[in-house]
Order: sequence, then structure tokens, then C-alpha cells
Amino acid sequence: MKTIRRGDKGADVSAWQAILVAGPRPTKWTNAAGAAREWRADWAWPIRVDGDFGERTEAASEAWQDARGLVADGVVGPKTWGAAGKKTEAAPASTTGLSWVESPNKNVGRKQRVRVIVVHTMEMNEVARGAESCARYFARPETRASAHYCVDATSTWQCVRDEDTAWHAGAVNDYAIGIEHAGFAKQTAAEWDDDYSTKMLARSAALAAELCVRFGIPPKKLGVAELVAGEGGLCGHVDATNGFANGKGHWDPGPNFPWQAYVAAVADGVRALGGTVTATDTADPIDTSAWIEVEHGGATWLVAPRYVAGVGIGEAAELARQSGCVLPTPDLVDAIWKRADLKIDAATLVRSDFKEWSMAEMSSASVLADQAKRIDAQIGGRAFTLLAGTHKDVARHPDGRIGLYGWHRASGQPIQGFFDKHAASWKDYSQGLRLVKKKG
Ligand SMILES: [Zn+2]
Repeated sequence: MKTIRRGDKGADVSAWQAILVAGPRPTKWTNAAGAAREWRADWAWPIRVDGDFGERTEAASEAWQDARGLVADGVVGPKTWGAAGKKTEAAPASTTGLSWVESPNKNVGRKQRVRVIVVHTMEMNEVARGAESCARYFARPETRASAHYCVDATSTWQCVRDEDTAWHAGAVNDYAIGIEHAGFAKQTAAEWDDDYSTKMLARSAALAAELCVRFGIPPKKLGVAELVAGEGGLCGHVDATNGFANGKGHWDPGPNFPWQAYVAAVADGVRALGGTVTATDTADPIDTSAWIEVEHGGATWLVAPRYVAGVGIGEAAELARQSGCVLPTPDLVDAIWKRADLKIDAATLVRSDFKEWSMAEMSSASVLADQAKRIDAQIGGRAFTLLAGTHKDVARHPDGRIGLYGWHRASGQPIQGFFDKHAASWKDYSQGLRLVKKKG
């Protein structure tokens, strides 16, 4: 679709008029110039679908845009076409290199309105042309699976139209759009933070934002309960597995997928496209179904099984808040350590060479990845529900100060007493964020 405005004629104008007349008769609206406008009593409704963009088509276009929070200038460009579910030559996905190879693995059409975007990992290496490889794999009939989009660091491939039902996440397919990402569900947080993933997720978030605007999907992360309850938003394949398949099936994009940053980027994209983001979209709802209950101070706390690594002191409180959580107090950190069913000895993880390093080095992606490997080696494949001893906590002292605390030795002795003399920007390999939330 081309950008069209008053004075234009042709098939795209007719297509646009057909969209307008499917809606209600415009009444009153405010145009981009701030003028109060209204549909004149002597103007018939519906307008004629005649391929001629005149005064009434322009007025109806302004009203249509105003009703959707778009710039009500009567010019039908990529954002307006996008909001109407139409692709444009200059749509953001196209400018980021959208390519097309059709998959036969799909049902034509939709049984339900699109309301969910499902994030997947391809379980393929982060390589150049990874998206194309995945799309070509989906294009083979014998694959018996597909997704709408495949994204890597430099390209985006589409293999099923949004209007059709791809085969990617079982029970939610009827109302979901699937986006595949190069990489693996087992990736560590540091691996999700490498250059390739960062570029890929920015590309994916721009695409997801466009889809959110096109289908009116709120840019929020859905927990399993919300997905099952029929809410709209973004989720992982794992959420469909937990919600509809008793947890049996795919668990991508994995526990370390950076949902917080991804959803925030999607929300930014939605705003940039003129869409609406409400405060509750980007706050909460974190899925606590696998969290462990810890009794402390006369209350029951829900505790995340492990830490979010590589978090700055100043970032931690905001991250916790956005997840509907708080920072633990030092006493709660001790209680969590005691309750943990797998304890790593912090002394084995301390880096003897740290005095030579700057903070930038101590929090670099390579050091965080290396530390994650050291922790994995200590875990040694053992199962756990609550893991402790892997990080110092960003903790909140009862008097309100935020600092670092903990990192217990096997003896139960914390290496770090409460310490609040680092700058808020301080971040190193040894600290993490343990999300906790008071139950009820
Ligand atoms: Zn998947």
C-alpha cells in the first residue's frame, strides 16, 4: 500500500475507503492541527468507495485516525495502514529487511482474533542467515511446523501471513503470531546480552511493536494464568506449554530470555508508531508459579529460584518494582540461603584477579558468561528448586538504604556484610538480583 492523501486516486484509495465504510459514521473528532471537526449533517454515510480521495474521505480518515490515537492528519501512511492491518511499502518490518518464503505448514485463515505474540528460539546457532535457514526449514512440507516470522541479527524472514494460522505453539496457534529467534532456550543471561542477540532482539521488538499496533495487542508479558484466561500480550512458547500442555513440551525461549528489556523495547516501539501503552502493560505480571515459598518475619515470601545476574545496584530496585517485587532485606537473604535446596559455596566463585579489573571489566559480557559457566560447573547438573550462594544480593536495609549483602560460604557465613558505599551505577560479576514478593 502506498501513502495516500487528498487528491490521490486509484486502487489504494478504494481499498482505504472500503476500510473506512466498514466502521461507524464519524461524529466529532480533533484533527492533527488541533481543530474540532465534525461530520456534516448533509454528508451521506457511508461515503462512496470510488477511488477518489476527496474532502469526505479526508474527513473520515481524520476521524478514523483520531479514534485510534494516531496523528489525525488525514494522510494514510504506514502507521495508519498498519493500524488497519495492511502492509505498506514503507512499513517498519520492510525497512528492516523483511523477506518472504512461504510455508505450506499452516491453516489458511484464523478461527480467533489475533491477540498473542509467542516468542520462540530456533534451537539453531546464532549465525548469519539464521532466519533464512529457519524459514526455509519451515518451507518444507515434511517439517510439519512453522512460525510467522524468523529473526536473526541482520534479517527478518516471514513464512506465514499474519492472517493465517502457523503451527508453532499448540493450543494458542488460533490466536497467536509466532516469532522465531536464532539461538537456544538454554542460553545464559550473558549469552542473551551478546552483540548478535542484542541486534536480533532490537529487530524482533520493532516487529513485535508493529504487530501490537496492527492487532491492538498490549505490549505486556503474559503470565501463564493470564494466557489461559484469554488476555492479550506477549509470552514464551513455555507459557503455552505450561498453560495448555501440563508443562510437557517446548520451554523456549528459556528462563534467561530478557523479557523485561524486550517488552520495554516493544512498548517503546508501540509508542513510536503512535499506539497506546498503559502503565500496567510494562509493570508486573511476572510468572511466580515456579517460585518457592520462604517463611520469614511472620510473612510468606515468594522467591525466584535463582538470581538475575549482571544487574547494577541502581537498576535493581526499578527492575524489582516493574516486576511487582521488592529487594530482599539482609535477614531475608539469610532465610532464603537456609531454605535453598542447592547451595553453591561462594568462596569457589570469588575471582582472585579482581583487584586488577575495572568495573567495566568486572561486568563485561565475557566475564558474566564465564561466571555463569563457573556456576553451572558448581551445579554439576543437580536439580534444585531454590539455588543460593551464586551471587551477592542487591538488598534493602530495613532503614531504606540499598547496598550489597550476602554471597554465603558453604559454612553459612556471608562474604559480604551489608555495604552501601558503591555508586548506584556499580555492577560486577558477583552481584545479582533475587526477585522476592510477599505472598497474598
Ligand atoms: Zn518454540
